[in-house]
Amino acid sequence: MTSTRYTTANEEETIELGRVLAARWPRPCIVLLIGNLGAGKTTLAKGIAEGLGSARADDVSSPTFPLIHEYGEEGDLYHIDLYRLDTMEEVETLGLEEIFSRRAVVLLEWAERFPALLPAERIEIRIEAIEEETRVLTVTELP
Ligand code: ADP
Ligand code: MG
Repeated sequence: MTSTRYTTANEEETIELGRVLAARWPRPCIVLLIGNLGAGKTTLAKGIAEGLGSARADDVSSPTFPLIHEYGEEGDLYHIDLYRLDTMEEVETLGLEEIFSRRAVVLLEWAERFPALLPAERIEIRIEAIEEETRVLTVTELP
């Protein structure tokens, strides 16, 4: 298990980090984005979408409704937010296993609440707000 820490000083630096990280990832690739509201999960997703060439940062928004956003002509990026779901039964209606089997990068917000769902092989990105515009991002590749 390897963890790497990054510090960003503003929103644009987080987007740039997303671009750099995403360009290295294999596919399929399951990525948990972990952090409080306003930490910067969706901001990082903007950069990831750009790094994959799936969407422009401005076209990436929080997947509130629907809960699954799909980007790229070949569906090479999924961004999923489980914040509003409470039970495993509700999560099962999303068909995540099928999405996990595609040759895609899958970004998950609030998925740590449903550990039974998660493949052992995954990347976890923890984002902490340290100051108004300072964020610490810890990237861990599991197992
Ligand atoms: P989340 O999806 O985790 O709820 P968002 O990405 O939607 O969070 O929002 C993050 C907010 O924090 C945005 O308003 C953004 O402008 C602000 N922000 C300030 N500094 C940073 C930074 N270094 N990285 C990311 N976002 C930042
Ligand atoms: Mg968000």
